[in-house]
Amino acid sequence: MSGKFDNQVIVVTGGNRGIGKAIVKAFSKEGGKVFFIYSKNVDEAETVVKQVRDEGCFCEMIKCNITNQKECEHAITSIIKQTGKIDVLINNAGITKDGIMLMQSSDDWKSVMDVNFFGTYNITRQVILNMIKNRCGNIINVSSVAGLHGVAGQTNYCSSKAAIIGFTKALSREIGGKNIRVNAIAPGYIETDMTDSIPNRDIIIKNIPQKRYGKPEEVASVAMFLASGESSYVNGATIVIDGGYTA
Ligand code: NDP
Repeated sequence: MSGKFDNQVIVVTGGNRGIGKAIVKAFSKEGGKVFFIYSKNVDEAETVVKQVRDEGCFCEMIKCNITNQKECEHAITSIIKQTGKIDVLINNAGITKDGIMLMQSSDDWKSVMDVNFFGTYNITRQVILNMIKNRCGNIINVSSVAGLHGVAGQTNYCSSKAAIIGFTKALSREIGGKNIRVNAIAPGYIETDMTDSIPNRDIIIKNIPQKRYGKPEEVASVAMFLASGESSYVNGATIVIDGGYTA
């Protein structure tokens, strides 16, 4: 059976759970050779690899803290050594450390910028060297509706996600001429560990026109669209996936 991403090498950060796991599964089902990065949860990562391989698909896991430039260099070099190329990069890994700005420690503030924004930069910097050499590539950065609209208690998270949108736009201009597209996706409330502990779920749902949280698989479908030829003239864009929440 042939898939949409046959023979393509896909790198996903934060692939052991949530949205990243759905992305890993969706691309591998379509024939992609998926390499995903996790930072701590080895058991979750091994489970994802097993589930994907049980379906007869390709998947490898790599431990890498994306805030560490050396680890990013090592992870990406090891993938390229095996495959010679990276076709699609999905910068998905992210964290929250919420709190009212004046009450937050600067360490909590900075760690969110470090993972969400500098992590995206660290991995992308390693990957685009190979994409430029091959004159082919596709980068998808996971931002958030919080990067487009402010959320009280999330100055660090909103800043990191807004920075990702600026990064996406500027990089799309820098490397668009080399046949590399760079786009962002901005999910609203999606059912994952990250949103599990958010209070007042009923009130939030009342304000979502589709009256429910989104599923990780619904974010993965948009990532697949952006990584495919079906979106061949979409570049530097941010696609919102929020059931109409911010409409
Ligand atoms: P989860 O908390 O479920 O998963 C986060 C992932 O990021 C894990 O795989 C984790 O790996 C990885 N990660 C965290 N820190 C690092 C690090 N330093 N180095 C490498 N990997 C790391 O999050 P979601 O699936 O909910 O979110 C995925 C992305 O989508 C995030 O960028 C998030 O901001 C964004 N998003 C999510 C929304 C939602 O409603 N869920 C809404 C809008 C955006 P490990 O477990 O090994 O640490």
